[in-house]
Amino acid sequence: MEMLAIPVFVLDTDSRVMIWNRACERLTGVQAAEIVGTDQHWRTFYEQRQPTLADLVLQNRLDDIPHACHDAVHGNLSAESWCDMPRLGRRRYLAADASPIFDERGTMSAVVETLRDQTDEKLAQIALQQLATRDGLTGLANRRCFDETLHAEWARALRQKQPLSLLMVDVDNFKAYNDANGHLGGDECLKRIATAVASEMRVNDLVARYGGEEFAVILPNQSLKGAAAVAERIRCRVERMQVPHRLAPTQHVTVSIGAATAIAGPDNDASQLIAIADAALYRAKHLGRNRISLPV
Ligand code: GH3
Ligand code: MG
Ligand code: MG
Repeated sequence: MEMLAIPVFVLDTDSRVMIWNRACERLTGVQAAEIVGTDQHWRTFYEQRQPTLADLVLQNRLDDIPHACHDAVHGNLSAESWCDMPRLGRRRYLAADASPIFDERGTMSAVVETLRDQTDEKLAQIALQQLATRDGLTGLANRRCFDETLHAEWARALRQKQPLSLLMVDVDNFKAYNDANGHLGGDECLKRIATAVASEMRVNDLVARYGGEEFAVILPNQSLKGAAAVAERIRCRVERMQVPHRLAPTQHVTVSIGAATAIAGPDNDASQLIAIADAALYRAKHLGRNRISLPV
């Protein structure tokens, strides 16, 4: 076990470390000499006292961590999570498997835990997820994430018989803004508007970049009255930023917003909500911009 390439430690039935192999020393930055014989192995992984998987197997607490996988036949426990690693000074994402060792009478005599450092894979997975769901310019949810969320929220609204509201936010005269400030200046402006819109959201709301200079806001469990209030707050916030726009009638960057609310039913679907919000947005533009509009 000492020479195994996989990090391994073994606990005796008093939760004291019997074996702490070299790969485990390399992974954790803690030497066998200082840990073998103690029950302080948790300090290697966590800032606050917390049982390791091996401890949970020893104590027969196989159901204690909800995200762990447990094999009831062999008493094995597998889990992966971020660990503080105080001695290393940097968090690591570790996958761990803990298995009991039985003597010839069938009594548990020790528990062996093997570790795998999955940090690089986890970070790559997070980065990929970010790429797949976030808009690169603004950091908001992207169109794909919006579509998925809208359908999920629609299904939930249907189940819970709750209203679902949607806002479509479009920057006014943005083509002219680009013409005056260049596309890079336009990009900076879009980022500021994105931040302003996002700052008006509650935890369960989703704000996404729907397309070019258009943003969409999903407001679960929100009535049309509530949605109109959120829309007005967003409109005001953008106006208050006073981003100069010399080609716009207001001399500042403004947005127009269309709102829609639906009670989800078996005979309608989420695309109708988009169409209604779009029509309202069109009316807001038609009526002179820098305003919110509700369905007629
Ligand atoms: P309206 O008030 O009717 O909405 O007028 P508008 O000029 O905003 O509308 P239009 O649809 O004519 O123009 C949208 C502009 O948004 C055109 C396009 O070049 C610009 N745009 C779209 N995506 C981006 C982007 O990512 N960066 C920049 N800088 N501009 C963008
Ligand atoms: Mg537009
Ligand atoms: Mg526009």
